[in-house]
Amino acid sequence: MESEHLYGTASVAASPEDWVKVTARLACDERLHSMTVCDTSFGDGMRFLSLWSFWRSHRAPGAKLQIIAFSSPQSWAALKKGGADDQVPQSLRGLEAQLEAQWPDALPGVHKLSFEGGTVTLTLIFHPLSVALRQMDAIVDVFWLSDSAAFLGEAGGASPAGKLVRVAGARAEVVGLVDNNAQRLQGVLQQSGFEIQGARNAFKGFVRARLRDGLCHTRRSSFVGADVLVVGAGVAGAAIAWGLAQRGHHVQVFDPMLKLSKAGAHAGHFAAAVSPYLSKDDDYRARLSRVGVARAWANWSQLEEPARPIRCGTLGLPTQDRDIASWQEVLWSLGFPNDWAGWLKPEAASQKAGEFLEFGGCYRASGLLVKPNRLLPALLSHPGISCVEETVTEVTRFREGGCGLKTESGSNYEASVVVLANARNIGSLLCRLTEPGDFPKLERLQAVPGQVSYFDAAGFNGGPACVLDASAYWLPQVEGLLTAGGTYDLEQTRAEVTRQGQREIARKLSYFLPAHRQTLSNSDSAVGGWAGWRAVVTGRLPVIGPLYQQHDIWLATAYGSRGLTWAALAADLIGAKLNDEPAIVERELSAALLPR
Ligand SMILES: Cc1cc2nc3c(=O)[nH]c(=O)nc-3n(C[C@H](O)[C@H](O)[C@H](O)COP(=O)(O)OP(=O)(O)OC[C@H]3O[C@@H](n4cnc5c(N)ncnc54)[C@H](O)[C@@H]3O)c2cc1C
Repeated sequence: MESEHLYGTASVAASPEDWVKVTARLACDERLHSMTVCDTSFGDGMRFLSLWSFWRSHRAPGAKLQIIAFSSPQSWAALKKGGADDQVPQSLRGLEAQLEAQWPDALPGVHKLSFEGGTVTLTLIFHPLSVALRQMDAIVDVFWLSDSAAFLGEAGGASPAGKLVRVAGARAEVVGLVDNNAQRLQGVLQQSGFEIQGARNAFKGFVRARLRDGLCHTRRSSFVGADVLVVGAGVAGAAIAWGLAQRGHHVQVFDPMLKLSKAGAHAGHFAAAVSPYLSKDDDYRARLSRVGVARAWANWSQLEEPARPIRCGTLGLPTQDRDIASWQEVLWSLGFPNDWAGWLKPEAASQKAGEFLEFGGCYRASGLLVKPNRLLPALLSHPGISCVEETVTEVTRFREGGCGLKTESGSNYEASVVVLANARNIGSLLCRLTEPGDFPKLERLQAVPGQVSYFDAAGFNGGPACVLDASAYWLPQVEGLLTAGGTYDLEQTRAEVTRQGQREIARKLSYFLPAHRQTLSNSDSAVGGWAGWRAVVTGRLPVIGPLYQQHDIWLATAYGSRGLTWAALAADLIGAKLNDEPAIVERELSAALLPR
């Protein structure tokens, strides 16, 4: 074909509406049905806003619009820099305000924004183009290559278009602009398995290519809306059940502890902290914890009081392991925005915390206070969830597809998907599903009991205003009680509240709460506590992923001391895979969590 015929007239400066027109033509019947669009250059966001606006007036019932967009980490102010507000058409201003309200911190990683009750999502990948192409996990229907020079130049490796093929759905389309690179772009796309399409009518001025039949490497999930059985109603199980029920799955949750209450093992667990962890090299745990905190807030801030978390911020204090100099080195080497994580001198830190602090600390505004005994019942009360107050004794996979489980009373249940979220007891169910040596990571799973202490807030001037995190944590009051924790009782075989543990916690608090030393030295200063278990594997990352390629049995365990940070994250990881949503973390991060 002649390139003239392919490209039509040059249109280096296509408007957002032109992109929308082209995309609408690619959707069936010229209407936007459920589709995933990948914009390899988010720019000023106008293409996204225009497509969203078009979709609102043309959507089919139940339709979903999923946009993935690449950008460098940037603040809203940076995004808007240079563009006058009056350049945004009046019709898009309302949507723009919604986008601004959810715009994430300028931090590297994947950020999921959700609009219109979750039917429109924007997954921002804040990475250079080459990294974003390598790390994204999705099934894409339409790729927008608005900056072909960047795509051809920076995508790295011999075949940038090959990276599109990895995530392309069947008959996926690529649209790019007719510019000086058009000829080269066409060649690269053809080499990687795309067929160049004619560019008449709406496509005038665009390069258009379609993935050849038979070349699709992605596989759509067969579990959209499927029934799911979740074993365990602790932090992991409750969050996953809710995340799946929100996506339209009917979920049955099994846990004998539900006989006591819907808070199960966390009845009496009044408060816990969810804080982003920082490491000098921004390791996997640090990156995942950022997403975990963001997902916890995005998901659970929708809940009613008192289940809603409180965004009170976290102040990390110097400890033996991390003194002031190493805190500051961490902050300096990360170079993250100061308003996301910044060092506060003693006076400012004391003011922020509402406690006298001698040494200052690192403040992260995104830190959350979570109330497990309120959160879990609220999650499990979702109308899409039913609870079974029994221990699961056996899990089976059927040869003809589907899974089943048996409970202690001998009852059998069947569904398409099973999630094992029963923490340290996971081995007893896995032994019939796997061979010894198959999952060495899980064979080394350890269980460490520990306790938190409660103090009467009245005796501590009401307690701190934010999470204080040092050798122990000290949390803002919940229902008149202050929570401090925790102990790691490595030698113990039972999880119980002991006097010795309470003394240990009081001693740790005394190090950084000089104003309360006197009160804490009283052996009766604690008025109660809660004890539980932490399941841990080497590396202290959680284990979240499918047991088999078929994605019918999932594991979510080894949450260690950060269960509430991983809980919503796991729900979104599993929910995304079962429902063909763009992944909420980079490929390398989800690979690090796999059971193997
Ligand atoms: C003292 C202490 C303080 C902590 N503080 C924090 C904190 O501040 N922030 C934070 O993020 N994390 C904290 N954690 C960690 C957090 O509590 C755990 O990471 C989290 O509870 C793990 O969730 P889970 O669902 O995997 O396990 P669990 O919450 O222990 O739940 C597992 C559930 O599985 C059920 N079960 C087991 N076997 C079966 C079976 N065969 N059939 C059916 N059900 C079964 C159990 O009854 C249990 O209810 C703390 C932990 C402790 C011990």
